[in-house]
Amino acid sequence: MVEEQLVSRGIRDQRVLDAIGTVPRHLFVEDAMQASAYGDFPLPIGSGQTISQPYIVALMTEALQLKGGERVLEIGTGSGYQAAILSRLCERVYTVERIDSLLGRARKVFDKLRYHNIVSRIDDGTVGWADQAPFDAIVVTAGGPVVPQPLIDQLADYGRLVIPVGDHDVQELQLLTKEEGEITVQLIEHVRFVDLIGAHGWQGFNGRS
Ligand code: SAH
Repeated sequence: MVEEQLVSRGIRDQRVLDAIGTVPRHLFVEDAMQASAYGDFPLPIGSGQTISQPYIVALMTEALQLKGGERVLEIGTGSGYQAAILSRLCERVYTVERIDSLLGRARKVFDKLRYHNIVSRIDDGTVGWADQAPFDAIVVTAGGPVVPQPLIDQLADYGRLVIPVGDHDVQELQLLTKEEGEITVQLIEHVRFVDLIGAHGWQGFNGRS
C-alpha cells in the first residue's frame, strides 16, 4: 500500500510513510470490510460516513509538516484512523466527533492499540476546542462551505490548518498557514469529503443548508 499508493503519487515524508506502514488500518473498519481495508479507496464506516482513502490521509498528514512535538486538533474522528496516524507523529491529538456511536468505536480501537496520546470528545468541531487552544496544526476531515473562523483563531502562530472547502460534491483541499497573525492559503488538490455539519459548517440535518 505504501509503495503503490503513496510513494508512487509523490508522498515523500518518511515519518508519514512509516506511520501509515505501522498503524493497522483494518482495525478501523467493520469486520465485513477488513479484506478491503488496504485498498485504494474510501470505505463506509456507518452512519453515512467514510474512512478516507489512504492516499488522502497521507496527503493531509504530510501537509501538516509534523516534527514530533506538536499538539494537533482533528475535526471528524470518524473511524479514528486519521487520529491514529497523527498520534504516531506528534505529542498529542485532540479529536472531535459529532456522532456518538462512531466515537465510541474509535475509542475502543485507540485503547486496544494503546494509543494513549489521543484525547477525544463529542461536540460540534466547527467551534474548535477552545480550552486546549492554540494548536500547532489542525486538520478537518469533512468538507464545509467556508473555513470556520474559530479554527483560524485557535491556530498557533506558524501553525498549519488543512481543510476541504467547497460545495457538497467537490472541495478544494486548502492549506492555511499563519505567520505573525497573517493567513496564507494554498490549494493542495481537489477532493470529495462528507459534509462538515455544524455552526460554522453546513447547517442542520443531512447537510442541507
Ligand atoms: N478522519 C476520519 C474521517 C471520517 S469522515 C477517519 O479517519 O475515519 C468525517 C467525520 O466528520 C464523520 O465521522 C462526521 O460525523 C464528522 N463530522 C462532520 N461534521 C462534524 C462536526 N461539526 N464536528 C465533528 N465531527 C464532524
